[in-house]
Amino acid sequence: MKKIAILGSTGSIGTQTLDVVRANGDIEVLGISAGSNIQKLEEQVREFSPKLVAVWDEKAAQELAQKIQDTDTKVVAGMDGLLELAAMPETEILVTAIVGMLGIRPTIEAIRAGKDIALANKETLVTAGHLIIPMAKEYGVRILPVDSEHSAIFQSLNGEHKEEIDKLLITASGGPFRGRTRKDLENVTLEDTLKHPNWVMGQKITVDSATLVNKGLEVMEAKWLFGVELDQIQVVVQPQSVIHSMVQFKDGGIMAQLGTPDMRLPIQYALYYPHRRYLDGERLDFAKLGQITFEEPDMDTFLGLPMAIRSARTGGSMPTVFNAANELAVRKFLHREIRFLDIYDIIGESMERHTVIENPSLEEILAVENDTYQWIESRW
Ligand code: NAD
Ligand code: MG
Repeated sequence: MKKIAILGSTGSIGTQTLDVVRANGDIEVLGISAGSNIQKLEEQVREFSPKLVAVWDEKAAQELAQKIQDTDTKVVAGMDGLLELAAMPETEILVTAIVGMLGIRPTIEAIRAGKDIALANKETLVTAGHLIIPMAKEYGVRILPVDSEHSAIFQSLNGEHKEEIDKLLITASGGPFRGRTRKDLENVTLEDTLKHPNWVMGQKITVDSATLVNKGLEVMEAKWLFGVELDQIQVVVQPQSVIHSMVQFKDGGIMAQLGTPDMRLPIQYALYYPHRRYLDGERLDFAKLGQITFEEPDMDTFLGLPMAIRSARTGGSMPTVFNAANELAVRKFLHREIRFLDIYDIIGESMERHTVIENPSLEEILAVENDTYQWIESRW
């Protein structure tokens, strides 16, 4: 039995991880966690009988403890609870399916405890990749990508040599507003934004897909995961989301991974790597599909991508500012406090005012995050 814990078990990636567990029957889930959705946590406790459940919200944690008094599952709360979950003695893999840079500390804790990381939580690598990647090497743990693009690259690199990579081609659907002009985006609603053409995901990443911030985060995530230069990463729009990403090698040969859009595949691949298991679901039918098309990303309209690349080129604490500003802007957009295009202004202005710290420590990253939030709150 493989033993895992899931950071963020009630979300889109978390519940699909549990689907994979359920379908295979040979993975033991020892720990689960969520922000505050105790109803779903209770269901998961009753189905999977984990030893530990961590709830961010203290009151919700107390309520859950009441509800599951009849079980053997222990309830813990807050950041200490997430850290305890991350480092549970018996687990082999921590699935980081939490949203946002809140995942940094638990991820570091898990690496220090020798756990492999099945990483969905890209915000953590974007802001703390310079700490996490060397630490993973030091502790001999694997970072197994769950993000579909990075899983595709990981799969395309099987048996290849890193030095022979020419470039990584990260595919993008273009999101729900592909083809629109900046003028068109002035009045788009939250509902329009949450209609992703190909994937059903959590709300934050769905907004990030519409702004192309997600693709920008993925460029940075790829830089850390695969150790390539920014100039070796190219974004290609592939609206059908059938090619999940590609690697071009020195000889011009290109390896790609294709399939119907289904996050259970990269999740399962990370959990059983280097093996593949049966996965139910639709197979790609090329005749039915007819064509796969490609475009350049529209960097003049969707500023999320060029701003992310700019923050990555600056480096140091700038990707933290980019990410933190986006996290708060998206929260405000989801609460209908700002308009779609304000997200770009908030990120741009936050980056503008920031004095970069080279090679920031964990404490400095968290301080920059806080400072960015405070500055935005004082202005918007
Ligand atoms: P989601 O919003 O559906 O789920 C987030 C999970 O995190 C939930 O279980 C929630 O309870 C938990 N959480 C939120 N705030 C918390 C807090 N304060 N303390 C503890 N737990 C908290 O998000 P998602 O779409 O599953 O995305 C999760 C991560 O995976 C993100 O980093 C996202 O970018 C990445 N990702 C998601 C997909 C996808 O298809 N959904 C694809 C690729 C990458
Ligand atoms: Mg992705």
